[in-house]
Amino acid sequence: MPRDSFNREIDYLRISVIDNCNLRCVYCMPLDGLRFLPKDELLTPAEIELVVRAAVSVGFRKFRLTGGEPTLRADLLEIVERLAAVPGLGDLALTTNGLLLPRLAMPLKEAGLKRINVHLDSLNPATVERQMRWGSFERVWEGIMAAEAAGLVPIKLNSVVAAGYNEAEVMDLARLTIERDWHVRWIELMPLGGGKCATLSIKRYVSNIETRRRIEAALGPMVEHESNNPYDEARNFKLPGARGVIGFISPVSEPYCATCNRMRLTADGKFHLCLLNDDEMDVRKAIRGGGGMEAVARILVRAVELKPTGHHLLEGRSTRERSMYQIGG
Ligand code: SAM
Ligand code: SF4
Repeated sequence: MPRDSFNREIDYLRISVIDNCNLRCVYCMPLDGLRFLPKDELLTPAEIELVVRAAVSVGFRKFRLTGGEPTLRADLLEIVERLAAVPGLGDLALTTNGLLLPRLAMPLKEAGLKRINVHLDSLNPATVERQMRWGSFERVWEGIMAAEAAGLVPIKLNSVVAAGYNEAEVMDLARLTIERDWHVRWIELMPLGGGKCATLSIKRYVSNIETRRRIEAALGPMVEHESNNPYDEARNFKLPGARGVIGFISPVSEPYCATCNRMRLTADGKFHLCLLNDDEMDVRKAIRGGGGMEAVARILVRAVELKPTGHHLLEGRSTRERSMYQIGG
């Protein structure tokens, strides 16, 4: 397994397959001024497979497809099929806003996808409309039901808390874990890429300490839940008697850089070394210049060696080049 210069074992690759999205969450994408990658700049299914084969050959085991919104890729099923067939690949998951899952959940499962994370910020339809824009609670919920029916489990819901939007409703999502064996996780806002969304992410930031306090005030004290995965970025808890798990992903109030095990691949074929920094290494150029698996593996190992640690969120600094929808979270 590749280790970086801080002795962290890096074996998890998050692959963004597209930068476009069918939602415009207030902290992620502005309503205007967006330009998306032209199709010929996106890695093709065969190119993504090549990167994954190279990653497996150097010891990567976990893979996740993300976006923008990955279900907007017309060839998503081909990508999943190709990756699921790579010998030695351990886990293959997808992060989505769920809108297209009613149609896609079963075909994705059949193509070899194992698990799914669905992004939903509230159970209140009016809040979803205001915070995630363009979508509706009912459609996301239908998508979650379709994923569960297709066996893409355990269902994990990701929710971003923003002051003045959903912070007073967090207990409603938390309550879902009492009856269902789902994971409901709260992600702290991060300002990526400058611009309006980054400014909003700073202004509307709510610490997970506060979110936890709100949930416990409404539903009672939680007990820490031992995760069997030391690299889980979430700190996990359970409500008394609950079937499911509540997780807090707290890059700002409780940074987890020391246990980071991730590398990222952007839709236009750059290894993005750390979510919260701009450092990248081009792999598409090598592939389109005729480089095969060994060349790609060499670039990936070098990217791991160069992976930085630490972030500057508390000083208000983050990426300048890319926003969250261009990296994939
Ligand atoms: N569209 C898919 C989705 O929403 O799940 C995948 C891509 S999205 C960029 C991945 C994750 O990033 C989502 O869970 C979303 O909540 C999170 N996210 C987006 N902008 C964020 C921000 N400014 N701070 C923290 N998380 C953010
Ligand atoms: Fe789209 Fe996901 Fe960003 Fe929301 S968080 S705008 S669903 S990419």
